[in-house]
Amino acid sequence: MSSEALTTIPLTSLTRLSQGKVRDLFILPDGQTLLFVTSDRISAYDVILKNGISSKGHILTLLSAKWFQVLSSRVPGLKHHFLSLTPPPAPEVVAPEERDMLRGRSMIVRRLKIFPIEAIVRGYVTGSAWAEYEKDQTIHGLAQTAGLSRCEQLPQPIYTPSTKAELGDKDINISPEQAREIVGDQYASRIEELALACYKAGAAYAEERGIIIADTKFEFGLDEETDEIYLVDEVLTPDSSRFWSKADYQVGREQDSFDKQVLRNWLTSNGLKGKEGVAMPPEVVEKTKGRYLEVYERLTGQTLEEALKNLD
Ligand code: ATP
Ligand code: MG
Repeated sequence: MSSEALTTIPLTSLTRLSQGKVRDLFILPDGQTLLFVTSDRISAYDVILKNGISSKGHILTLLSAKWFQVLSSRVPGLKHHFLSLTPPPAPEVVAPEERDMLRGRSMIVRRLKIFPIEAIVRGYVTGSAWAEYEKDQTIHGLAQTAGLSRCEQLPQPIYTPSTKAELGDKDINISPEQAREIVGDQYASRIEELALACYKAGAAYAEERGIIIADTKFEFGLDEETDEIYLVDEVLTPDSSRFWSKADYQVGREQDSFDKQVLRNWLTSNGLKGKEGVAMPPEVVEKTKGRYLEVYERLTGQTLEEALKNLD
């Protein structure tokens, strides 16, 4: 594995379906499955940074794969898009020289129709939810118990969806009622139920490993043939979740999180928040990479190096 960050995915053997802030999706020859490739790109405040974080693509891929396995055994009836980690072996599918690049950062997934909402679940009141609560005592328009402090655990995890914006736009917090209008009555309750169940199972698993999952974002997709809902995308990673150290957690103040906090702090303190074409200095890259690696090791009980060795 190279120590250079890979910000573009040099894969020409397959047709690219889409490119998001972090991932490139490619259509596999059967048309029913996708190669889901995670780059080392990093975004903050909805803008992609010029340089990346080496190994981030591997960390997010292998951590998601671990979660699909954990959640399958803990959430009854859960279906998910993950099929395998190994890139297709056939040289007519992916050129041999491309296989190394894909190793550990790609997975084969079921191609599904994605519901255009982000199924956010919050167990703690922080971030934009805290700002709203402090002002109106609501979160995504939902009335909440009085007297909560900053970063306090909510009496129950809550489902607080947002819109799923196109590249370059901002997601908007919406109420479960508005989400119901977007996805349709027949799917809304099941999505909410699955999101809450996945959060609860994931949060319990992480807590045993010293990590609090303050909040997270899931995505769901539909198999139009069977009308079944699947958990898709990345799952419970530092990009899609706020992870706090259980040992350092204290109610009533901001928490240090295991994600892009170092990067966000550097951007805001240098007046670079939301600016395009910004490159991170080496110390921000190293610290951020350290956070991602630490969360990976704590949650999987393995170093990234060990996990990569075990791939073949
Ligand atoms: P962000 O996660 O920050 O919103 P993004 O939406 O630009 O970023 P990426 O994570 O870079 O997205 O790319 C993943 C894309 O693939 C998302 O648009 C997601 O909805 C889509 N996706 C995930 N799983 C599947 C699937 N099984 N079939 C089809 N599309 C999928
Ligand atoms: Mg995404």
